Amino acid sequence: MGAPTITFSKLVDRLHQYYGSPPLSPSTDPLELIIWENIAYLASDEHRAGAFATLKRTIGIRPEQILAAKHSALAAIGKAGILPDVSAEKLLKVAQIAYEEFGSDLRSVLKKPLPQAKKALKRFPSIGDPGAEKILLLTRSYPLMALDSNGLRVLCRVGFAEEQKNYSATYRSIQDALREQLPKDYDSLIRAHQLLRQHGQGLCKRSKPRCTECPIQSVCAYGRTDSATSDSVATVK
Ligand code: SF4
Repeated sequence: MGAPTITFSKLVDRLHQYYGSPPLSPSTDPLELIIWENIAYLASDEHRAGAFATLKRTIGIRPEQILAAKHSALAAIGKAGILPDVSAEKLLKVAQIAYEEFGSDLRSVLKKPLPQAKKALKRFPSIGDPGAEKILLLTRSYPLMALDSNGLRVLCRVGFAEEQKNYSATYRSIQDALREQLPKDYDSLIRAHQLLRQHGQGLCKRSKPRCTECPIQSVCAYGRTDSATSDSVATVK
């Protein structure tokens, strides 16, 4: 694949033109965002939102409330995704760490220097570097270009970086490639995060991306290959 023939900001503008304004973030509270990640494994956004609303309404989202809940009640909520028992365990772990290590309030974590803030957030299940950066972006704590797996896949296929031997290396490679051209303000970074995610979930799926329908095919290295119109699959997850 060749180098991208479009800047990052123009790419995001094209996606914005195509999709319109992206959906709002589910929360701006760090603990709620961690609960959101863990509540229902591999659930769609719609089902995850339903599960989150049910948890709030029937159990509550304070760590003490989750710790007092029955495992079966948490697992019933986790049925919005697969492996509901695993999701229940993760929710209990989230609540336990928040309660025991952070006094049930993670807002002070956001004020720590970046390495310490990321380290604290990574104490929680399902939160690695990308997840920690996403929380720090959506809570408007640090202006980072957080990317989920969908956004990462789109940017690799467009040609901003090559896929590396593992996910972390690919993530860092994209971050290095974008560093000089990223917007600095939270609104633009959050818009980019949400639109790239939306594009990766919709047209630029892991298997069989729908390149012929894609609004950025003409500037996409993968989209311009013969594979883009065949059943071949790009491998970035
Ligand atoms: S052209 Fe295909 S591979 Fe490129 S961004 Fe669009 S859907 Fe993804």
